[in-house]
Amino acid sequence: MSEPAAYPDPVLYVYQAHRRYKEGKEGTLDILRGASLAVWAGQSVALVAPSGTGKSTLLHLAGLLERPDAGEVYVSSRPTVGLADNERTAIRRLEIGFVYQSHHLLPEFTALENVMAPQLIRGLGRAEARERAANLLSYLGIGERLRHRPAELSGGEQQRVAIARAVANAPRILLADEPTGNLDPHTSSHVFDTLTTLAKQTGLAAVVATHNLELAARMDRRVTLREGEVVELP
Ligand code: ADP
Ligand code: MG
Repeated sequence: MSEPAAYPDPVLYVYQAHRRYKEGKEGTLDILRGASLAVWAGQSVALVAPSGTGKSTLLHLAGLLERPDAGEVYVSSRPTVGLADNERTAIRRLEIGFVYQSHHLLPEFTALENVMAPQLIRGLGRAEARERAANLLSYLGIGERLRHRPAELSGGEQQRVAIARAVANAPRILLADEPTGNLDPHTSSHVFDTLTTLAKQTGLAAVVATHNLELAARMDRRVTLREGEVVELP
């Protein structure tokens, strides 16, 4: 596994994770069977695998939205599986940002307000939250769209607002589940570049599930899922 020398410990370390779902009355579906993935600060990893192989499941475990049936998930070297729900939620809020395939922005809020919201929830003052939101949106190339509501933005702009919102509280980990799945190739490419540049420049550890091999090729690493395990791709 490629380990940047400057960062000895991975920010995210999914270790030997198992996840099974019940199927019908008796059957079970072993989706993850000892999946391990370590991601270092400033590194972007593409998770490229066919539908139904467990990409979302792996991201949910990594994001502390679900617990593995066995194995461990370390966030900043801290084991999280045995923690109480409220502690897991606190880590998720502080250290992890999510971007989904559809933007999930609040429709009645402007772009600026959507990016301010998580900061206000965390207790930051309005002025500070507004300034950080405006800076982030400008950095992501939508500084001219601060007052637009989601419906008044293009798909690519909406996803960039969603990325800004995900990193508004300066998490250490960014998890994106097919974030460009609904976008045209040109826009996808732009959103991807935004995301990887952001990861690099702010020292984020990013994992992005995608079907797009061309975009995956631009990230630092590529991994896939094979028989429930994470396999590094060349
Ligand atoms: P991917 O994101 O790679 O398409 P998922 O992680 O969403 O794959 O799902 C992997 C498999 O697990 C799929 O076959 C899916 O139907 C099944 N699965 C996912 N979540 C659940 C659940 N909550 N209950 C039962 N089966 C699930
Ligand atoms: Mg999925």
